[in-house]
Amino acid sequence: MKSLAILGSTGSIGTNTLEVVKAHPELFNIHALACYSKINELIKQIDLFKPEKVVVYDPAAYDDIKNILMRSETQVLYGEEGLLEVVSDPEVQLVVNALVGFSGLRPTLEAIKHHKDIAIANKETIVVAGELVLKQAKENDVHVIPIDSEHNALLLLLRQYQKEEIRKVILTASGGPFRSMTQKELHKVTLAQALNHPTWKMGKKITIDSSTLMNKGFEVIEAHHLFGLDYQDIEVIIHKESIIHSMIETIDGEIYAQMGPADMKFPIQNALTYPEIHGNSYPKMKLWEIGSLSFDQPDYDRFPLLKTAYRAGKEGGTLPAVLNASNEEAVYAFLDSKIGYMDIYSVIDRCLDAHQKVDSPGIKEIYQADHWARDFSKDMISSLS
Ligand code: MG
Repeated sequence: MKSLAILGSTGSIGTNTLEVVKAHPELFNIHALACYSKINELIKQIDLFKPEKVVVYDPAAYDDIKNILMRSETQVLYGEEGLLEVVSDPEVQLVVNALVGFSGLRPTLEAIKHHKDIAIANKETIVVAGELVLKQAKENDVHVIPIDSEHNALLLLLRQYQKEEIRKVILTASGGPFRSMTQKELHKVTLAQALNHPTWKMGKKITIDSSTLMNKGFEVIEAHHLFGLDYQDIEVIIHKESIIHSMIETIDGEIYAQMGPADMKFPIQNALTYPEIHGNSYPKMKLWEIGSLSFDQPDYDRFPLLKTAYRAGKEGGTLPAVLNASNEEAVYAFLDSKIGYMDIYSVIDRCLDAHQKVDSPGIKEIYQADHWARDFSKDMISSLS
């Protein structure tokens, strides 16, 4: 029995993780759940999974749930302190970090400090502080296991080969809803269009990130850190069916692919049971229903953020933290209808250009870069809106 803490339990990854837990009561038990503010959803989860602790991040939602659960056996904790408490709880064996954005960093580092393995869906943590996180994980003998479908696939593929046998890895991208739009059409994109992803059902932020290919850019940086790959050995290919999640090419030119349904329960289960593989009763893939698979090169002119992400990753230092912070600010401003779709690009680009990079940053420099980039981006956003 593995005892889990799930951070972000009411989001898309969180609810899928609980589906996996429900399907394998003999393998997992839930020690703690944490969410931002969806307490109605959280209360249902508490009834079903009986965690000992829950954390609510939003102050008003915390006050509400504290009253509702006054006589409950479940202990209610608040905010970041609550997150840090559950990830360091001696009862917890595996932390599932499905928080959104930069907020996931501190709980990840705290979990590592307490020798907890981490199944990570919070890719922003790896983007902004990959070097630091992976170094500390190594020192504390902690496994950082990716939930992201592409990296989960790479984990399964790469373990079958020696490092010197690998020529490159290929991450697939669905291309998002605007794959075939012209530059001109992209300028007129609405919020509703951007939120309508063709193959994956996900939270709002990652859906927008998928449409700009920023999500794929983050995944390139994530792959660099998780698997120690050079940027020149990480390729992105557009594969609109989202059936192949990743491929590796060995030095002899053979390509091996990992295929699976566009259903996050599969990579989540693999991450939770890693390094073992277990059965399940989720609907399986029927290849004849899929019929054919297609591949295309990404268009860096129409989707410049992919190139921007490669640049931030290669230059390194605090640049990826700035990339992430300006992207978060720009995407939320777009979601609030404060700026247009193409403004997301200009906010990020100008922010990266204006940043004075610090090399080999510690946690303090990463936080400083994050703050600086948010202030800079907010100024730009208010001048645009
Ligand atoms: Mg992904």
